[in-house]
Amino acid sequence: MTRYIFITGGVVSSLGKGLAAAALGALLQTRGYSVRLRKLDPYINVDPGTMSPIQHGEVYVTDDGAETDLDLGHYERFTGVAARRSDNVTTGRIYSDVIARERRGDYLGATVQVIPHVTDAIKAFITADLDGEDFVLCEIGGTVGDIEGLPFLEAIRQLGNEVGPARALFVHCTLLPYLGASKELKTKPTQHSVKELLTVGIQAGLILCRSEQPIPDDQRRKIALFCNVPYDRVIPALDATTIYDVPGQYHEAGFDDQVLEYFAIADPPPAKLDGWRRIVHRQVAPEGEVSIAIVGKYTQFIDSYKSLSEALTHGGIANNVRVRLNWVDSGIFDDEEPNLALGEANGILVPGGFGERGTEGMIRAIRFARERKVPFFGICFGMQMAVIEAARTLCALDGAGSTEFGACDHPVVGLLTEWTRGNVREQRAADGDLGGTMRLGAYPARLAADSRVRAIYHAADEIGERHRHRYEVNINYRDRLEAAGLKVTGLSPDGTLPEIVERHDHPWFVGVQFHPELKSKPFDPHPLFADFIRAAVEQSRLV
Ligand code: GLN
Repeated sequence: MTRYIFITGGVVSSLGKGLAAAALGALLQTRGYSVRLRKLDPYINVDPGTMSPIQHGEVYVTDDGAETDLDLGHYERFTGVAARRSDNVTTGRIYSDVIARERRGDYLGATVQVIPHVTDAIKAFITADLDGEDFVLCEIGGTVGDIEGLPFLEAIRQLGNEVGPARALFVHCTLLPYLGASKELKTKPTQHSVKELLTVGIQAGLILCRSEQPIPDDQRRKIALFCNVPYDRVIPALDATTIYDVPGQYHEAGFDDQVLEYFAIADPPPAKLDGWRRIVHRQVAPEGEVSIAIVGKYTQFIDSYKSLSEALTHGGIANNVRVRLNWVDSGIFDDEEPNLALGEANGILVPGGFGERGTEGMIRAIRFARERKVPFFGICFGMQMAVIEAARTLCALDGAGSTEFGACDHPVVGLLTEWTRGNVREQRAADGDLGGTMRLGAYPARLAADSRVRAIYHAADEIGERHRHRYEVNINYRDRLEAAGLKVTGLSPDGTLPEIVERHDHPWFVGVQFHPELKSKPFDPHPLFADFIRAAVEQSRLV
């Protein structure tokens, strides 16, 4: 029997609803239950793919090629359940589907309305493509009271009624602001937010109270009384030292126990937190420290590289070191050498990105890493920039560049308009739509026999990693790049697309066209990140 847990947020945004959902999913899993996590986003974009990462954070890509909200990254990192296209939907997607159906005549002459047509489409989404999981956790983006969230709240209200309270729980996540002047936590915003939810017919069954300070008992009782929930279901959710401590901390606060009690599940298996405790222990009491410089374009907004910073942390967990992240705006090297800013780095990483701004700085940073023999990891755009650097500096191809920035003499990185997925040929028009048209999702790559990456991937011949890019390293330059020491050691199975490059005259220099950070987990660090950090630890011993 599948039970639904709907997670809404109130008072302010950025409360950590996504983490709370992920943590609850992980806690239920440690008790042996199967879970699925989904996110409903009320914004009008069909997906977040066309949004700037500094607007809405990273775009998380699933194996099946969907561009989704970054919360799906948390879900996958905490539960290990691979996110799918069917786990994230937006108002834009719902409406475009409803309108397409209307145009086809599927509504048989009816007036198409928010209730029931849009709400039916939302409910159909929530209940589709499930595998009989014990719990489906469904997070509603935004904050209660937002105009665009109303159809989603109405849909979950209806669904809650249809399956009945025994199979549906509404968790509301709020903030208790702390007033320094009077030294007290305030419950009124929570009361208002729960009332706001009531006006759309939803009674919160459990309130998760985010707070920077311990919540006094009388405040908890007050919330219980005014918000019409049992005292034990007002759960204090205090800030955690690391996000991987959230499952343990919320468990201590009674979150999963109360969820199971709500569903009247008698004698549930106990939560097993050893694994999470080990991860937290490694994070808070590591044996050493390395510093990694991330030279990118969106460094002013940390959420734009969410999976990346997590994957680096996982690499630290694998090596029992703390990874200090030094976010460097590549633009600062556009006109100056990076010596000073990167001098302390034990590893340099150039991540994904779009557009020309800041690329000369990335190229300078890569040259620095190559010449000074600092471990270098180039991801997607970072690999493309490493290829341009080698072409210009080592192959004497002065006009080497990417056609992403316009025509150039040597397009060592070029627009991809045709590629193969399994047996299917995918094609794109050069001037087509921007949304959802990149090379997206998991693709296999073959690894060269004598390569560093093959050893890193535990001698695998073929790997599968997730992609999100429109441009690709131009295979026609392979011989010239290899003669200059930049070896192509990973290729698409048809041999046309360079997926990995590496140098053998350097302690650790790897560029990958895909995004390995998307698949890294705290309990299963990605081998490339684990090995990059290992190399950074070695480098730190040299200096
Ligand atoms: N802008 C590059 C491309 O489209 C790289 C994209 C990325 O780093 N994800 O190919």
